[in-house]
Amino acid sequence: MRLTCPHCGSRDLREFTFRGAVLARPEAASGDTPAEEWSKDWHGYLHLRDNPAGLSREYWSHEMGCAAFLVVTRDTRTHEVHSVTLAVETPA
Ligand SMILES: [Zn+2]
Repeated sequence: MRLTCPHCGSRDLREFTFRGAVLARPEAASGDTPAEEWSKDWHGYLHLRDNPAGLSREYWSHEMGCAAFLVVTRDTRTHEVHSVTLAVETPA
């Protein structure tokens, strides 16, 4: 598999490091949020992961290149890469 870094171009996968699924971070706790609900949201964010068969959005870093943090959208069934964008330009 190859990934196309926006800075470096097409590179072998071994230059990149998987950094995890792109997840929306839970809202910060407010005075109105019950502690149990807040704790449940953070538990899910930190410990529970889906294992999708299909499109997946993932963080990768170009460790052996420019060190850019990337968002890669790929199909987990075929490993076809649909897009690679800079994480700084892509909302979660
Ligand atoms: Zn790069």
